[in-house]
Amino acid sequence: MTDQLLILGTGDSMGVPRVYCECEICDEARTGGSNRRLRSAVRLTSAAGYLWIDCGPDWAEQMEAAEQREMEQALLTHAHFDHMAGLPEWADACRWTGRKGNLYAPEDVLDTVRERYPWLERNLDYHAIGDEWVFGEWRITKHKMCHGKNGFSYAYRLEKPDFVWAYCPDSINLQQEEKAFLSGLDLLILGTSYYHEAADFHTRSVYDMTEAAELLAEIRPGRTLYTHMSHGVDIRADYPLPAQTAMAEKGMTIELRR
Ligand SMILES: [Zn+2]
Ligand SMILES: [Zn+2]
Repeated sequence: MTDQLLILGTGDSMGVPRVYCECEICDEARTGGSNRRLRSAVRLTSAAGYLWIDCGPDWAEQMEAAEQREMEQALLTHAHFDHMAGLPEWADACRWTGRKGNLYAPEDVLDTVRERYPWLERNLDYHAIGDEWVFGEWRITKHKMCHGKNGFSYAYRLEKPDFVWAYCPDSINLQQEEKAFLSGLDLLILGTSYYHEAADFHTRSVYDMTEAAELLAEIRPGRTLYTHMSHGVDIRADYPLPAQTAMAEKGMTIELRR
């Protein structure tokens, strides 16, 4: 069986549509259009079972869409609500089934989860991951990535002898060492909130697609999918993206092989 990736959500922290907003993209999303976006997450299918990366507030809807009834394990990129607000629901599901889930994250991320949701460890086992973690056939390493005004987030690099990919939903303004972590990839899933974001740089926290194009020219992944897209992105638009680059869509599956 080839390992596979399922795109569970491609939205930014507020999702699309934004409740308060009547822009053209939010209205299109609201009326059943293609811009409706759940919060960003992916699911890796491997010999070791499913591994979700992130568990945001749309978790239950994403479970239903993936036709998955039980979640055994998840890995978190950082402790912001759009990446972890599904944890209480997951823990509650574990309470009902009587089987504890396994939550993997760096120690500092687990510390924040403990602060926010102090009751979850009754139903979830926490596992602090070190510099290297092996999941099935995947060797997984982590790196702190600049998340602009929001501090930092972790990116994960997952390697098998015949495929290397990385998940980096929340980053901006990466420096040399961070870029090196994303070099030599067959596939990069990268967060880009807008095509071009006009807001002051110091107020921003995620790449836009024009900046991402410069990053891609340097790190040259085999293929790139953009995620973590706000209501500023129209999935129907024909943006001038670099070669081998596309906007991810919910429900998309990607075979993780060359
Ligand atoms: Zn985010
Ligand atoms: Zn809008």
